[in-house]
Amino acid sequence: MKKIFPPLAPVWRALVFIFIITLPTSAEDWPKEAFQLRDAALKSGKGFERLAEMCDRFGHRMAGSKALEDAIDWILVRLKEDGFENVHGEEVPLEPWIRGKESCVLIRPVEKPLHMLGLGGSVGTGTEAIEAECLVVRSFDELELVKDKARGRIVVFNEPFTSYRTTVAIRVKGAVAAAKAGAVASLIRSVGPISIQSPHTGMMLYESGVKKIPHAALSVEDAEMLQRMQDRGEKVVVKLNMEAHQGEPTRSRNVIAEIVGREKPEEIVLISGHIDSWDVGQGAMDDGGGCLVMWEAARLMKELGLHPRRTIRLVLWTNEENGLDGAKSYREKHRAELARHVIALESDEGVFAPEGFNFTGSTAAMKLLQGVIPLLRPLGAEKLGLGAGGSDIGQLLMEGVPIMDLKTANSRYFWYHHTAADTMDKLNETEFRKCVAATSAMIWGIAEMPTTLPR
Ligand SMILES: [Zn+2]
Repeated sequence: MKKIFPPLAPVWRALVFIFIITLPTSAEDWPKEAFQLRDAALKSGKGFERLAEMCDRFGHRMAGSKALEDAIDWILVRLKEDGFENVHGEEVPLEPWIRGKESCVLIRPVEKPLHMLGLGGSVGTGTEAIEAECLVVRSFDELELVKDKARGRIVVFNEPFTSYRTTVAIRVKGAVAAAKAGAVASLIRSVGPISIQSPHTGMMLYESGVKKIPHAALSVEDAEMLQRMQDRGEKVVVKLNMEAHQGEPTRSRNVIAEIVGREKPEEIVLISGHIDSWDVGQGAMDDGGGCLVMWEAARLMKELGLHPRRTIRLVLWTNEENGLDGAKSYREKHRAELARHVIALESDEGVFAPEGFNFTGSTAAMKLLQGVIPLLRPLGAEKLGLGAGGSDIGQLLMEGVPIMDLKTANSRYFWYHHTAADTMDKLNETEFRKCVAATSAMIWGIAEMPTTLPR
């Protein structure tokens, strides 16, 4: 595939650098449209209102569910009303995971129900519940030390939360490690720093050649209780029942809408969030909020009659949570135009006070982006860091598209992430509006740059 923006030769790099230092370095140098947008975002209540209505009307939006498809229909109608162009749903085939009924009951040393959620992709327990003695461990390393005792038992990984990136390994790979040691099922302590008896779901993986065993999360409180019981020398027995299974292949849709660029319509500034959620809570934070921030940032351009130089393409991905099907499908269907994707932005780490953006791309591009900072400074969102990590846009990064994600003060994000408590009331409208303001300034800046971002 021919790259539209080939890597620059050293001489050209030097010329680009000379050009860069002539870009606006203070807010006053930016055209008034950027300020108009930012200020309109701080005043507009429409995005937050729409998010609340979507969450309350459709609830959670699991891939494969009617609620997700109804929410997508509802969004498509409103995007057309807003005046976006090329509004459509783009089909994505997927195999849904279905939770079914599930329970986990402590049988010994006392009988009581435990707070649990099956993990996405897990097999069920079959026609009979699994009743077995538990082996509680604090980590993979501890399991390795006591693996002789794991055969026929239910391994409970009670690993305290350090960071999501680190601790999530027990959720993703716990079933494989437990099965290799001969366990009949595995349970994890929910991956989150704070708990009010609120188990967290999320995706997990099996490994070919390793027996698939049921895998579920307990609340932090219940995992700690099992640990204390074992530490006292008590025999801990639980009964696990899960109807979890893969459903029939079905289809969902990525939502796509555009503001076609006035001068460089072929160059695409992609902005995105994922419209699916887990099947608990309302998916308000993960990632309804991210979707509405991006949507509202673009809608305000329409409302103000601003027409960017490059095309703004809004994409709301489907099934991020359980397989990235929407992003993978987009990557294949749009392969021929990926070289014309100037950047891909995503918001998928909660909508809190914006701090700035993380970027993955060339050093020359990073220097160009510094030009947008003056617009972000009044919002307290001027941090521009390296290392964007959005999972959907990661699919485009693989193909060479520079990516960026919205960075927020999200220390509370993993309190609610993938739980029944991911609901609208956890979001703050002022913070939401600031996220829209920062995003609109950033995407306007990129869409208007005199030169495209070098790869
Ligand atoms: Zn998410």
